[in-house]
Amino acid sequence: MKTIRFDQIRDAIAGLCQRANFELTADMRAALQAGVERETSPLAQNTLKRILQNADIAKERSLPMCQDTGLVIVFVDVGQDVHIEGGTLRDAINEGVRHGYKEGFLRASVTGDPIQRKNTGDNTPAVLHTEIVPGDALRLQLLAKGGGCENMSRFKMLTPADGRDGIVNFVVETAKLAGPNACPPIVVGVGIGGSFEYSAVLAKKSLLRKIGERSALQHVAELEADILKKVNESGIGPQGYGGKTTSLAVQIEVAACHVASLPVSVNIECHAHRHQEVTL
Ligand code: SF4
Repeated sequence: MKTIRFDQIRDAIAGLCQRANFELTADMRAALQAGVERETSPLAQNTLKRILQNADIAKERSLPMCQDTGLVIVFVDVGQDVHIEGGTLRDAINEGVRHGYKEGFLRASVTGDPIQRKNTGDNTPAVLHTEIVPGDALRLQLLAKGGGCENMSRFKMLTPADGRDGIVNFVVETAKLAGPNACPPIVVGVGIGGSFEYSAVLAKKSLLRKIGERSALQHVAELEADILKKVNESGIGPQGYGGKTTSLAVQIEVAACHVASLPVSVNIECHAHRHQEVTL
């Protein structure tokens, strides 16, 4: 049994909140740079260069790369041999978000009640997904998820008869409807199967994968490549100015589902794809 203290989790989360907002990951940087090489339109090239320049300035000066500093989503793999001491996991994570956002001068973007809409003032609470796994480690994967791109996400309960073509059409349609509103180039997270709610969790979780890393399942990897090609043929381009780089990646997670159902969720992520992780 390994003991992990409340303050270790709090401090780790605070650090992840700031790193996610200040530092674009190397895989995202490489994907944006590849877009610069691929584009032939000067406007599209220039837009991608500006996005990269913005990310560089954010990192150098410890500034958020976007004014929308996101809703914090945390996926936690909890080793079954871990004991958390000094408080609950949820409280430690929220305390970390509170510290990270206050000390990093990051905008508070969370409303406590979705109807009354009063800002909580410290970007809490985070959305938490936990899974019990073997071992004695605690893995924290954090996303700071922008509101504009999140709003472009969609769910549809397809029928099994809709099949592969139905999935392709729905995901491509979703990316096209998002257009410039999701701040492209986007990352398209897709969850297929499971249940109504689980497909949405899978779509979100797929965004944690390294950009450019295909699914280990051959038929899913082919589906990712087909959808990516079609989304990029839309011509929406960086920030909607036209071009070949509407999406940097399509990332699909799948799960078993009922024989009568084919749930599909699409979670759209923007060019400010902020995610970081740590294992305690
Ligand atoms: S969608 Fe992303 S890049 Fe656009 S405003 Fe929101 S967080 Fe910023």
